[in-house]
Amino acid sequence: MGLEEKLPEGIITTQLETLVNWSRENSTWPLLFGLACCAIEMIATGSSRHDISRYGSELFRASPRQADLMIVSGRVSNKMAPVIKRLYDQMSEPKWVIAMGICASAGGPFNNYAIVQGVDKIIPVDVYVPGCPPRPEGLLYAMDKLRAKQGKDNFRTYANLNASPAPATPEDIESLETLRQPQRA
Ligand code: SF4
Repeated sequence: MGLEEKLPEGIITTQLETLVNWSRENSTWPLLFGLACCAIEMIATGSSRHDISRYGSELFRASPRQADLMIVSGRVSNKMAPVIKRLYDQMSEPKWVIAMGICASAGGPFNNYAIVQGVDKIIPVDVYVPGCPPRPEGLLYAMDKLRAKQGKDNFRTYANLNASPAPATPEDIESLETLRQPQRA
C-alpha cells in the first residue's frame, strides 16, 4: 500500500503554489534560541513524547539564515529586544513568528520597565499561544494554525514585498534603545 497504488498512472497534477505551500508547511525550521521558562516547554516539544518532527520542524537551526520560523519562548527584556529584531531581519522571506506564552504575547506578569509588553512591539507575530507556560501541545496546536496559514499563502504576497527589509543597521538598533526608557503608568 503506497502512493503508487493510489496513482496507478504515476501522474499527479497540481498548482505550483499548492506544491510550494505544501512543502513549506511540512518543513518549517525554527530558529534555535529560547528566552525564559517557556523555552523548556519548547524543548520538550522536540522530545519523542511530543515529536515536533511530525511537522518536519525538528531541525532547530543555529543560524537565522537557515531558519524560517522564530518561536519567541519567554519574556523579551528591553536589553534582548534589539538582538531579536536583528535575528528576525537576518531571516530570509518567507518567515513566520510564534509568540509562545503570555510573556512573549503581552508581557505577562512583568508589567515593568525591563520587559517589552509583547514581542509584536518589535516584529510581526503570526500566532499567539496563551498560557504560563503553554504545554508542548499548545505549541503544536500553534504549529497547526501556522500550517493552515502557510497553506493559504500566495506568491503575490512575496512578489509585492519585492525584497526582504534591509538588515537592521547600528542606527536601527540604537533607535530600539528607546525601548529601554522606563515606562510610565
Ligand atoms: S509565560 Fe510564564 S512560563 Fe513563559 S516565560 Fe512567562 S513567566 Fe515564564
